[in-house]
Amino acid sequence: MKRVYIETYGCQMNEDDSERMLRLLEGAQYLETQEPREANLILINTCSVREKPEHKVYSALGRFKRLKENQKTIIGVAGCVAQQEGKRLLDRVPYLDMVIGTQAIHLLPELVQRVQNKGQRVCATELDREGKYLIAPRPQKGRGKMKSYVTIMQGCDHFCSFCIVPYVRGRERSRPGEEVVEEVKHLAGIGVKEVCLLGQNVNAYGKGKNGELDFPSLLRHIDEISGIERIRFTTSHPEDLSDGLTQSFSELSKLCEHIHLPFQSGSDRILKRMHRGYTKGSYLERVDRLREACPSIAITADVIVGFPGEEDKDFGETLDLMAQVRFDDLFSFKYSPRKGTRAAQFEDQMEDNVKQERLSILQSMQKEITLQKHQILEGTTQEILVEGRSKQSDRDVTGRTRSNKIVNFKGDLNLVGSLNPVRIVKAFPHSLRGELVE
Ligand code: SAM
Ligand code: SF4
Repeated sequence: MKRVYIETYGCQMNEDDSERMLRLLEGAQYLETQEPREANLILINTCSVREKPEHKVYSALGRFKRLKENQKTIIGVAGCVAQQEGKRLLDRVPYLDMVIGTQAIHLLPELVQRVQNKGQRVCATELDREGKYLIAPRPQKGRGKMKSYVTIMQGCDHFCSFCIVPYVRGRERSRPGEEVVEEVKHLAGIGVKEVCLLGQNVNAYGKGKNGELDFPSLLRHIDEISGIERIRFTTSHPEDLSDGLTQSFSELSKLCEHIHLPFQSGSDRILKRMHRGYTKGSYLERVDRLREACPSIAITADVIVGFPGEEDKDFGETLDLMAQVRFDDLFSFKYSPRKGTRAAQFEDQMEDNVKQERLSILQSMQKEITLQKHQILEGTTQEILVEGRSKQSDRDVTGRTRSNKIVNFKGDLNLVGSLNPVRIVKAFPHSLRGELVE
């Protein structure tokens, strides 16, 4: 057996792509290793949504250069950076063997063969009209997983002015409903308890396809699969949050009480320049409807500071939206200009020190809110899906509430994979401390 080492940077979609690449390579007699020096094949899989992951590709390539010199390791770059840079990557990095675009994952075993047998350097960045890149062999029993991602759609048709995704992942494409349902049944059969349905904009799932399930119907089908205990999904665009999906939170018992609903900015002027298609008011209405349908729902979001032309009063609107919603948690980013997007050409780009200052203000405000949200849970009993040993102590296990909060408590490893009632005894900024209810 040969060995493959995969280094993944970026979002859950990238993590799932890496998992699917591993499964494809298992069929070509490759086993995963955590040690790059042992590997016959090294893959770096990254996203390019913000600038940092892109830098990581080049620094990772630098680290692996020596391995290439000492042994005949094959090195490939996959993901959004590969899609965006294409052949330029091969030109810039003479020891790189493969560039695997976002829609060429299914070709991976064949590309490896070409490098191995013919000594070719390959670049596969053509867009795949048939959607074969969404398919991968099913996971086998024994990977010890109680949670699994399931990619249900890829790409995006929204073209927000700051975002590179539609250019590097292509247009929206959904997998057929029966295929997704069959995959989830298979996962339930090998012991998976929780699935997280993935896509850049899952609530546009099935859109525009005759006879295809829409997202709430897909959720209903998955809710009926025995063995699956929890359903999550990410990410949702507020504009596509239908009433049907909002109601699903009150109707489907396995759908966890959590939604990630990025708002990006609280200023209508900036939202318009971002081409987001909603206003602060309509975002707040959606939040109200979600909370009416499911009062205990946890809401998290993404926000960008320092978008071109963002003035103090625009930033003030963002803080005001945060104060009104009181998110359970927030992923906050400094705007990073992406080549080829409209916003990168706007002339009123902001200085980094202003972006940094706004980010710090916003993050300290959210830190306080997150802690208060955690404190509300003190004294309550929560259902925890135990995921493994806690990083903090050998005697503790760690898991998540249905609302996606991390809970650590004293317990044996034989609890891993099971759902347990746990009483919350102490709140911290990033996690909760609990006690198993016997
Ligand atoms: N499709 C989701 C939506 O629109 O709600 C978001 C997916 S995007 C890949 C993940 C997050 O990255 C975005 O919500 C946004 O906050 C952030 N992001 C995307 N482009 C960015 C940029 N150019 N600079 C900073 N953050 C960015
Ligand atoms: Fe990017 Fe999300 Fe906008 Fe699509 S909806 S362009 S993925 S930010």
